[in-house]
Amino acid sequence: MYMKTENIKTVGVAGSGTMGRGIAICTAGNYRTILFDINDEVIEKSKISIDKQLAKSVEKKKLTDEKFRTISENLVYTSEFNDLKNCDLIIEAALEDIELKKDLFSRLDALCSPDAILTTNTSSLSVTTISTFVKQNPERVAGMHFFNPANIMKLVEIVKGNFTSDETIKTLKEISELIGKTPVTAKDTPAFIVNRIARPFYGEALKILSDGTAEAKDIDKVMKECGGFAMGPFELMDLIGIDINFSVTKSVYEAFFNDPKYRPSFVQKKMVDAGLLGRKTGKGFYDYAGNK
Ligand code: NAD
Repeated sequence: MYMKTENIKTVGVAGSGTMGRGIAICTAGNYRTILFDINDEVIEKSKISIDKQLAKSVEKKKLTDEKFRTISENLVYTSEFNDLKNCDLIIEAALEDIELKKDLFSRLDALCSPDAILTTNTSSLSVTTISTFVKQNPERVAGMHFFNPANIMKLVEIVKGNFTSDETIKTLKEISELIGKTPVTAKDTPAFIVNRIARPFYGEALKILSDGTAEAKDIDKVMKECGGFAMGPFELMDLIGIDINFSVTKSVYEAFFNDPKYRPSFVQKKMVDAGLLGRKTGKGFYDYAGNK
């Protein structure tokens, strides 16, 4: 049996970091959503941060009072893994680490119904590899790749691994549309579409910076003024998180058998070592100390 769109009643989001919170806001507009994280403190902070974000959207008239209530009522925050048991669709948004995803997907396989669709928000890991961690019906495993900030960005890449069924893809495209997203489908190749194009974009910007040709703020200015981008590459890396951006680049580089086009930058490695991770730590290429 396969999970049809109309049979999906409860969505589980596993990982309540930058992406998980945004994804949960999107799904909770239409579905009861269980937002799970292994860390209690993260769960407590998630509720505060989501409530604050929603209240701000209401204030700015970007969200109606009614939608605010629906999202709040549909959202369940938990650090208890077993609470994901009755979910019909899981969107995994934990750290970009294959061993962690292996553990998580094999536990989801054992916990959830064998018909539940299991998706990963991975930016760079192989969806096919992830589906091998699921022993029962691996054809229900797919990529569901949202963009940051997930509650604002419309695009979702629906990624078809080697074992993913056409029916699973159909349901995921329909669900994406129902929650107001614009789905595109991609085969399971390293970095799919957006991140593959974006790697050389970040890479060249980092090279211009490390060569001493120009400063981050000027490179950003050029891309915004001349390239028509909403954010420059350094503003974007700070928003994404330097650690996440760096690990995505490393895995794309490895996946393309060390193609120099995707080589990671020492600039980012040093920032990760120093804990300068961008907005989430208050400092990255820019200083956000005054923004809190
Ligand atoms: P993040 O570091 O902000 O959050 C990750 C969360 O996962 C943390 O709260 C952590 O406590 C939690 N976690 C760790 N182990 C867990 C487990 N076993 N079960 C449940 N939760 C666990 O990371 P993020 O930026 O939200 O990225 C999450 C995923 O989304 C990654 O796979 C990443 O590649 C992908 N992604 C990130 C972006 C982005 O811009 N940051 C964009 C698209 C996709």
